[in-house]
Amino acid sequence: MEPIVTRFPPSPTGALHIGGARTALFNWLYARKKKGKFILRIEDTDTVRSTKESVGAILESLTWLGIDWDEGPYFQTERATIYTEYIERLVESGSAYYCSCTPEEVNAMREAAKANGLKPMYNGRCRKKNLGPGDNTVVRLKTPQTGVTIVQDIVKGDTAFQNSEMDDFIIQRSDGSAMYNLAVVIDDLTMGINTIIRGDDHLINTPKQMLIYQALGADMPSFGHVPMVLGADKSRLSKRHGAMSVGEYKHLGFLPDAMINYLVRLGWSHGDQEFFERNDLIEKFDLEHLGRSASMFDNDKLLALNAKHIQSKRPEILADHFLFHLKNLGIDAQNDAFTQGVIETLQSRSKTLVEMAKGAAFYYQEDVQFDEKAAHKFLNPDCLDMLQTIADDIEGLEAYTQATLEHVFKKIMDQTHLKFGKIAQPIRVAITGTTVSPGIFEMLLALGQEKTVQRIKTAIRLIQDTA
Ligand code: GLU
Repeated sequence: MEPIVTRFPPSPTGALHIGGARTALFNWLYARKKKGKFILRIEDTDTVRSTKESVGAILESLTWLGIDWDEGPYFQTERATIYTEYIERLVESGSAYYCSCTPEEVNAMREAAKANGLKPMYNGRCRKKNLGPGDNTVVRLKTPQTGVTIVQDIVKGDTAFQNSEMDDFIIQRSDGSAMYNLAVVIDDLTMGINTIIRGDDHLINTPKQMLIYQALGADMPSFGHVPMVLGADKSRLSKRHGAMSVGEYKHLGFLPDAMINYLVRLGWSHGDQEFFERNDLIEKFDLEHLGRSASMFDNDKLLALNAKHIQSKRPEILADHFLFHLKNLGIDAQNDAFTQGVIETLQSRSKTLVEMAKGAAFYYQEDVQFDEKAAHKFLNPDCLDMLQTIADDIEGLEAYTQATLEHVFKKIMDQTHLKFGKIAQPIRVAITGTTVSPGIFEMLLALGQEKTVQRIKTAIRLIQDTA
């Protein structure tokens, strides 16, 4: 069997959005699962709206998602001669012809058709004229006037289009440039693409593209059109539903694995499994279970999945993504044992990496930033002795472990008859500056013996100075 070749052909008129990312993902997963090829093509023929910045943003977002490509990026603007070659071939074989009708004339034909209760169409006036190229001539495909073109869609099943409702559409403009549908077909054909998964907003183009394949006598790829992604209010997903681009989600602290896990579930299912690791997805993904009904984007679900992925990753893997968010807070850190320890204390309590970075800032600060209320309430002369004893005991520990720390706390509880919270809370404020933090022992262990002692001593001095 020939290898599966899929593609993602974004138009670079903006960032990579949720819908586009999902299309890319479906094609990528299928290629990876089938050990085929995934090709990236930039459809930049709309030179007014296409920008280099958008190309950069799209490539960056795909890379961040871990969607890698085997070929490309190809740029349609660099392929004009290939399109011309194929257009000439179509004209030579009699499947296409030059047309010199003016836009006004074509408009009149369309109006006349409408007046007769027909679809507004070009009437084929130049079909038999055998015109050659010239100023102001376009090239039109000779479409069959009877019969049906059936799109055998992997997702939607068969959709029939009446050929009589398709006019001889333009494949080359009068300036010599190729029309969109022609360029897409020639690209897909010459790139060897045999499986096309795309949004169902493109279904309308498919019969035209099929007619071009037929005219070229070329093998047709398989098509699958997936329903659009909707917002929670069931309208098409747009900016007003919140973040739209993959780049935004990166900055909001989402993990690429959580994103792809969420995106794939917008239209694909494997029983009732919700949580997927990347390799698991590659193994299980198939086209049979792409859904026919539109899926709704649900931010809370994405957030819950993100929390699960954060929890399930090894700290050294999380670290690289986490460091980006620390940096955004002005903290330069390394993927080292210290940072991995920090991550471990926060993994089960962070829904996003932004939340995690904010919660981790205290570990990295030279000077603890005290929350005034917390310091006032918990760091007072009453706990001076307790803090002093704890600082001394911790400093004296030969082995700095959960067990020895627990022992220090137990000893002081026995001596002072204070409850655990009465001891832990001032320590927590001394270490973090606030009353909210990871579990006390895991936190002290992650911070390390020296810094722990140093911070408790700083708190002692603070109490003494303000007393
Ligand atoms: N360039 C089109 C888009 O960004 C995709 C066309 C296709 O998949 O055939 O929507």
